[in-house]
Amino acid sequence: MENYKFMQNKACEYFPCHKLKNEKEFNCLFCYCPLYTLKDQCGGHYVYLENGIKSCQACTKPHDKDAYEHVMKKMKDLMEMGKRTHNEIGK
Ligand code: SF4
Repeated sequence: MENYKFMQNKACEYFPCHKLKNEKEFNCLFCYCPLYTLKDQCGGHYVYLENGIKSCQACTKPHDKDAYEHVMKKMKDLMEMGKRTHNEIGK
């Protein structure tokens, strides 16, 4: 079970948008990676281009079999980034 961890949309005109060894395990749950804003802490296979843009072209982390577990491990970091600072709260 645990169907909330995996979904596949073969009707998508871009499926599979990245190459995985086993296409049956291609996870579409995170179509766009929620970890992009974590910069070098995302745990993926990124490169930074000379212009400062982070390129995820070679990364399949959000589509791997264990994508759900990987993203959930990083969720605390994302929540920290979204928090208001003491200055913003006014305390
Ligand atoms: S796609 Fe990969 S490299 Fe890009 S942010 Fe997500 S985990 Fe990191």
